[in-house]
Amino acid sequence: MLGLMQNQPLLISSLIEFAERHHGDAEIVSRRVEGDLHRYTYKDVAYRSRQVARALDGLKLAFSDRVATLAWNGYRHLELYYGVSGSGRVLHTINPRLHPDQIGWIANHAEDQVLCFDLSFLPLVQAVHGKCTTIKHYIALCDADKLPADSGIPNLQSYESWIGAQASDYAWPQFDENTASSMCYTSGTTGHPKAALYSHRSTLLHAYAAALPDVMCLSARDSILPVVPMFHVNAWGIPYSAALTGAKLVFPGPAMDGKSVYELIEAEKVTYAAGVPTVWQMMLGHMKPAGLKFSTLRRTVIGGSACPPAMIAAFNDDYGVEVLHAWGMTEMSPLGTLCTLKNKHLAMPKDEQMKIRLKQGRAIYGVDMKIVGEDGREIAWDGKAYGDLHVKGPWIIAEYFKGEGGNPLVDGWFPTGDVATIDPDGYMQITDRSKDVIKSGGEWISSIDIENIAVAHPAVAMAACIGVKHPKWDERPILAVVKKPGAEVTREELIKFYEGKTAKWQIPDDVVFVDAIPLGATGKMLKTRLREMLKDYKLPGV
Ligand code: ADP
Repeated sequence: MLGLMQNQPLLISSLIEFAERHHGDAEIVSRRVEGDLHRYTYKDVAYRSRQVARALDGLKLAFSDRVATLAWNGYRHLELYYGVSGSGRVLHTINPRLHPDQIGWIANHAEDQVLCFDLSFLPLVQAVHGKCTTIKHYIALCDADKLPADSGIPNLQSYESWIGAQASDYAWPQFDENTASSMCYTSGTTGHPKAALYSHRSTLLHAYAAALPDVMCLSARDSILPVVPMFHVNAWGIPYSAALTGAKLVFPGPAMDGKSVYELIEAEKVTYAAGVPTVWQMMLGHMKPAGLKFSTLRRTVIGGSACPPAMIAAFNDDYGVEVLHAWGMTEMSPLGTLCTLKNKHLAMPKDEQMKIRLKQGRAIYGVDMKIVGEDGREIAWDGKAYGDLHVKGPWIIAEYFKGEGGNPLVDGWFPTGDVATIDPDGYMQITDRSKDVIKSGGEWISSIDIENIAVAHPAVAMAACIGVKHPKWDERPILAVVKKPGAEVTREELIKFYEGKTAKWQIPDDVVFVDAIPLGATGKMLKTRLREMLKDYKLPGV
């Protein structure tokens, strides 16, 4: 017997219809490429997304055709989120920090038909358009009078004249909720990138889950600043969850330096922010010397790479902001776990609570996880034994776009490539990415643990730990360090700093001072590049 409830497909268009009807006057504020602040409401987003849908019909784009973006976080990008997916096409957000050759490669692989880009990326588009064989239309996200003349880009028009010519009445089509809605390529530090292809259903389930109190805890009373880019796994789903809750959205545009982000938080009474640790490092670096405080910010979700304890402590103790440590990946839409305390932890002393907050957190309903050993058998949740982390759930990929790489699943579970422990309360802690873990004398050393200790040193701005070959121990850890401007610290002082903080055999054998640690397209440390940089390095005494 079937249930007798209405069978409505879960479609992305329903989010913007809901926001328009029930939160029509909630604000969307965007810093534009032009430098000024633009403000309007969900009602306007809905109106203009319908114009986008009509404009795509006008280009004769078929159902499931791909529309690419090279754009910052901003209102026009949001309209594309809804107009493209809502009308049954697939939004392909491209990371502009990728190498131009890689951008050309993925645009062809995705068979993008249209490319919409912010004017900051004009030189990039000029460099790659000749390589993009499937793109027929180029749309610059600007007013008609800002459209560059003689750009050399074929079929280029301004977004405002493109959608401005359209009427705003449009009935969002109804279709199978399993239809593809958007796609995102993984950074592909080795080999060609592969794409996760999200569906309307996976996106909506993820949007519901992300808003839950023990997840991002979003509401109509929030003013949300996603510093995490809309080209980085759909800004962790915030553009969808914000519409679902009616929260105000604040977009930083291209201005993601510490000063600009801080000023936007204050000016727009932001209560909730989201980003990778490197962004917050820059903001705290701006605030501390100037003695600045937050007047409205209450919570910040930090993920994408491990959040150092010193950062959690600074937010909490110096600024009264709760850090929600989150873990996920492109293949997971991206949320997998988020760290909030359980009732029984509330009476614990602060340092005990801190040990929990440092973990990547508990699984969200909709994500199941397990750790497995080399024999593929599940490992007990004792908080000590570590293994390969596998996940499954309705917003986790079943296969990559075009079946690249074959079947990624093992017995129905997706192997994340991360190594983790899970404690008896279900809190997962990433020890390392499997390719970054350091194997010394048959034991594993977590590069994350070693980096976390280093960044707690007042002279250290950034630190990366990698393993180098050793004749006896197989690998030994060394630390690459970027010093804070004007700060001084020696190799010996840093090595001494580890004493009493970790087991002796885990202390790095050497410290190498570098000007910068290479960062990948999503702001994470690129250890592959760092290993290349240090390929001629020799361990002392070996
Ligand atoms: P990539 O960096 O490969 O493009 P993602 O952006 O999807 O891919 O990153 C996913 C990976 O980032 C995870 O598998 C994990 O290694 C790392 N990661 C994400 N969040 C955290 C976190 N909170 N702590 C430690 N590592 C994290």
